[in-house]
Formats: sequence, C-alpha cells, structure tokens
Amino acid sequence: MMFEQCARCGKTISDGDIRYVIRITVVGDDGGMIKEIDYPGAEIERMLTQIENMEPFELENDVFEERIFILCPGCKRSFLNSPFGSRRGGLMEDDDIVGPIQ
Ligand SMILES: [Zn+2]
Repeated sequence: MMFEQCARCGKTISDGDIRYVIRITVVGDDGGMIKEIDYPGAEIERMLTQIENMEPFELENDVFEERIFILCPGCKRSFLNSPFGSRRGGLMEDDDIVGPIQ
C-alpha cells in the first residue's frame, strides 16, 4: 500500500484518501515599470555582466521557483484561510494590487 504524509501536520494519507496538491510558483518581479532606455546597448551589457556573475542555481531560483506540497483536507482548509500564517488569507478580488502582475 502506498501512502504519503501531509506536508503540514504529518498525517498519513493512504490510497483512496482525499489529498490536495498545493503548487506554489514564485516568480521574480523587480517592481519596475518598463521605461525608455537612453542607451539600450549599455543596459544590455550591464544585465549580461550581472547574469554572468551569478551562479546558475542562484539565478534560476531568483527568477522562478516552484514547490509542490500534499495536504490532508483539514490542512487544505487551514492553508487556504491563511497561507502565510497571518490573519489575512491573501489577496481578495477587491484588493488593490500594486505592481505589474495582475
Ligand atoms: Zn494535514
């Protein structure tokens, strides 16, 4: 018999039990607006130098990272109510979102 454990409470989740897959994708965003660049060649050169000086693993995780967790039903409800363990459960439809990702 195959089983997994809930990533939050450690409860054993057996074959046939309901489980939830939480996939978290973290995408880097420097918060900057696209602006007119006076010297595009110099800007590209600066960015290439910055990239060349970073470790590949560091660079990859700086831009994009994905994690997958398995949760039991009780922990799924708790996670959705407060994914970051704070009293707010995350952005709601009527929240103002600041930044280019919307
Ligand atoms: Zn759990």
